[in-house]
Amino acid sequence: MSDGQSGDFDFRTWSHRASDWAADYLESIGDRSVRPKVKPGAIAERIADAAPETGQSMEDIFEDFESIIPDGMTHWQHPRFFAYFQSNAAPAAQLAEQLATAFASQCMLWQTSPAATELEIKMVDWLRQALGLPESFKGSFQDTASSATLCAVLTMRERALGFAGNKEGLFGKKPLRIYASGRTHSSVDKALWVAGLGQDNLVKVPTGPGPLYSMDGDALKRMIEEDRANGMVPAGVVICIGGTSIGATDNASEICAIAAQQGLYTHVDAAWAGSAMICPEFRHLWAGAENADSIVLNPHKWLGVPMECSLHLVRDPEMLVRTLAIQPEYLKTHGKDGIVNFSEWSVQLGRRFRALKVWFLMRCYGLEALRGRIRNHVAWSQRLAERLRAEPDFEIITEPILSLFSFRHAPAAATDLGDHNRALVNAINDDGRIYLTQTDHDGTFAIRFVAGQFDMRENDIDIAFETITQVARNLE
Ligand SMILES: *Cc1c(COP(=O)(O)O)cnc(C)c1O
Repeated sequence: MSDGQSGDFDFRTWSHRASDWAADYLESIGDRSVRPKVKPGAIAERIADAAPETGQSMEDIFEDFESIIPDGMTHWQHPRFFAYFQSNAAPAAQLAEQLATAFASQCMLWQTSPAATELEIKMVDWLRQALGLPESFKGSFQDTASSATLCAVLTMRERALGFAGNKEGLFGKKPLRIYASGRTHSSVDKALWVAGLGQDNLVKVPTGPGPLYSMDGDALKRMIEEDRANGMVPAGVVICIGGTSIGATDNASEICAIAAQQGLYTHVDAAWAGSAMICPEFRHLWAGAENADSIVLNPHKWLGVPMECSLHLVRDPEMLVRTLAIQPEYLKTHGKDGIVNFSEWSVQLGRRFRALKVWFLMRCYGLEALRGRIRNHVAWSQRLAERLRAEPDFEIITEPILSLFSFRHAPAAATDLGDHNRALVNAINDDGRIYLTQTDHDGTFAIRFVAGQFDMRENDIDIAFETITQVARNLE
């Protein structure tokens, strides 16, 4: 460090150490409690209050990492993580992440990372084919579904305003209206906030009965026509395929037809369920999605690609680029017509090299093994739902949509089932063998179960059954 800038650690040695650590971690992850047993603030207390003036030894840094961080993490790669929706990082794709970091590439323009751009075009197309979508769909990898949905809402806005909104702003303009069922993800609400359209202009369309809880098409049509009669400007519809709470799924075919009739732009949010569409037998759930203008799904959820990787597909990239391309002189790639600059497809300018991890994942496992995992998750989860249904005092609240269902424990002795099940989910998570989350389904407190961790086995479902029933019986 005599020259005042170099750290004195050996990158090669420590890279190997880090790889060994990661391999050991993944091998023994099932022995850990899925959710850490830490109190708020306990980790922060162990971290220095300010950065050191002089570099510290990697030995010390690594030792602190090992003693402080893992025990303070929720283990998302744990095979018995059945909460939220999984966030997977298949080992082969983790390798690609390490390599992508070595480039520290900034993939905003073709010329800033040609291989990254060209691999991204190919990987988007590999996925499009795997999902059974028409060739007309092009796309890019965004950080999250929230960002892709924001881009779709911005496109709805600009399209409805004749592409004048970016320049003129929204002041003095008629309210633009966007329609979605009340069961869509909160990222749709946030997209309207950020796009300047306002929460009040997100029209929540009622939904029909279970198991799909789909948007009521007649109500949608009526609401669009009423808004138009009242001087407002209907701009787009967000279609939900596999909602976060209980997997609510709209009829994409019906809603796209209504939207087309009404001249509205459509965006499909299939953030979680979309990955399952690599299996032809599940595609009925989004039949008609091929007629939508825009689709988002998260390979970083169920497919195995590490965070962050959202696939945003559009039928007309021109409309998206017209909405989002901003080209100061220094970013122009003169004379390179036909070149794709992916920063013009998203809000962020700087972008990671995301395509590399998709390439490694799809090549190392192959589509058939990726489909096999998803099929297992769906079958195992549905089997668990049947086992719980057959147990005295357990009720299935919402039927399985793919690998997601919700249930509750309803013993005669419990006076308040909401309180009882809140206590149950907490006790289950404190037990540590599995991790579950809860939801409010139309006023009923329900415990969610979703299978989807990349390396889980059928036996993990048996452990889930034992844990749920044992903990529930002990609570009675
Ligand atoms: C997870 C999820 C989102 C948000 O995804 P991010 O990538 O975290 O922004 C949106 N919609 C649905 C249906 C989801 O399941």
